[in-house]
Amino acid sequence: MWIEQIPDCLRRLLPQVLWRGDKTRKVLYLTFDDGPFDEGTPWLLDELDRLQIKGTFFCIGKNVEAHPELYHEIIARGHRVGLHGYEHRRGLYKDEAAFEADCACVAALIDSDLYRPPHGKLKRKQFKAMSQRYRVVLWDVITRDYNPKLAPEKVCRIATRYARNGSIIVFHDSAKSMRNMRYAMPRAVAYWKEQGYQFETL
Ligand SMILES: [Zn+2]
Repeated sequence: MWIEQIPDCLRRLLPQVLWRGDKTRKVLYLTFDDGPFDEGTPWLLDELDRLQIKGTFFCIGKNVEAHPELYHEIIARGHRVGLHGYEHRRGLYKDEAAFEADCACVAALIDSDLYRPPHGKLKRKQFKAMSQRYRVVLWDVITRDYNPKLAPEKVCRIATRYARNGSIIVFHDSAKSMRNMRYAMPRAVAYWKEQGYQFETL
């Protein structure tokens, strides 16, 4: 479906965006959006250690401010971080001044050259402008773990069905996705390891 894997014809509209990594190798890039989150991030960090995987965490500035110790722990455990806005307000990109202020706030909190817009949405000219400042990353596979109406087994099936060489895969480190992510991520990883995939950070 188009939601889980956006077709190439639409990706070509935003050529400056990174949608997928190295297509020539069996490598996957796990990304975790919206943290840090006190009920989820500690579990996620321990689980990634157990699985011996380093991932990329696109953090919300407001959450970094609320949980600086978790933000530093993500980095201390060897993961990469990226910016995911200061707020995660829907439609923020429509108000230029508020959007710029949001960008300045998050840039002061998170030191990274990676940026993923909240909800994956920006105006085209904002995509262009942000890509001059950052490596703007969207995704190859979105697991839809954020949808509590989806069964965890379904989220796992989405992850394993759509992942392919170089996939950048989105999970969420947030309250509403916790049940699905906790179930689906380790099981999908076990499947991918059996298939011979390696895991890298962006
Ligand atoms: Zn998000």
